[in-house]
Amino acid sequence: MDDPPRYRPADSTASPRFSGPRTFMRLPHTKATDDVDAAIVGIPTDDAVSFRSGARFGPEAVRSASVLLRPYSPDLEVDLSETLSVVDYGDAPTVPGYLELTLERVAEFLAPLHREAVVPICVGGDHSIALAELRAAAKAHGPLALVLLDSHADVWDSYFGVRYFHGTVFRRAVEEGLVDPSVSTMAGMRGTLYSESDRYEPGRLGFDVIEWAEMSELAPEDFGTRVLERAGSAPVFVSFDIDFVDPAYAPGTGTPEVGGPTSGEALAYLRSLAGLKLVAADCVEVSPPYDAGGVTAWLAATVCHELLGLTVLGRP
Ligand code: MN
Ligand code: MN
Repeated sequence: MDDPPRYRPADSTASPRFSGPRTFMRLPHTKATDDVDAAIVGIPTDDAVSFRSGARFGPEAVRSASVLLRPYSPDLEVDLSETLSVVDYGDAPTVPGYLELTLERVAEFLAPLHREAVVPICVGGDHSIALAELRAAAKAHGPLALVLLDSHADVWDSYFGVRYFHGTVFRRAVEEGLVDPSVSTMAGMRGTLYSESDRYEPGRLGFDVIEWAEMSELAPEDFGTRVLERAGSAPVFVSFDIDFVDPAYAPGTGTPEVGGPTSGEALAYLRSLAGLKLVAADCVEVSPPYDAGGVTAWLAATVCHELLGLTVLGRP
C-alpha cells in the first residue's frame, strides 16, 4: 500500500476537535508546497460588496465550522486522509479599502501553488477575489473553463461607475482572457434584475447559462453531464457563491436571493461535477455577522470538503 499523504487532518478520535488553533479541518498550517496536493487559502476581504458586508470574516468562520468535518465522504466515496495531502496555507494578504491592490497581492500569493501544481481551494471573502484567483490560475494553465454556482451571473459592467466589484468579476475575467466562455457554465441564476437585458448578458458573452428555474428541473446527474461535456479537457475553476443556496439555508451572505436550492440539493449538484479537471476552486460570500446559528459557515465548510473530494476525483 502507498504511504499515507504527508499532510492530513488531525485525528479527532485522538484529540477533541474543539482543541488547538483553528485551521481548516485541523490541517497543518504551513507554506510548504512539497508533497502537497491541495491547499486551503483564506482571502479575507469584503471591499467589493454592493450591500451587506462582513465576508472579511468568512475564512475565520468557515475554519471554525470545518473542525466538525470528518475525512471520509460517503457520497463521493473519497477518504481525504488517505488520498490527498492538504495544508491550510493561511490567509492571502489583503489591503482594506484598496481592492485592486488586494487583487494583485492575492494573485501573487497564489502563484507558487500553481507553479507546484497544488490546487488552491480559496475561502472568501466576497466574489471579487475570483478575479485574482483566475489571474493566478490562468497564468499557469491558460484560459480556464469556469463552472459558476451562484444566484447571480456577476457580469455587470460597472457599479457606481467603477469596474471592479463583486458583481462584475466574470465580465472582467472574460475581457482579460482568463476564462473561455465557450467551455464554461453558469448555473443557479434567479431573482430580480435591473432590466431584461441583464438576463441575457452572460449568454451574449458566450456562457452556457442554466437559470435556477431550469436547473431545478434537472437531475444532478444530467446537470453534471452537461457541464462536463461542455468543459471537455479544459482546466476547470469551480466557483461556489454561497448565495447560490436559498437564504433559508444560507442566510449569512451579502446579497441573498430567495427561492433557491436547499443546502442538500446544492451539495448534490456540486458532487455531480466529479470528473472535472479541477485546477482551482473557491467558496465565497459567507458573511458571519448575518449567519444566524452559524449554518452558512457549516455549509461553506462542507462545500470546501466536497471541493477537496472533487480534486481527488478530477486527477488524471
Ligand atoms: Mn457571486
Ligand atoms: Mn451571488
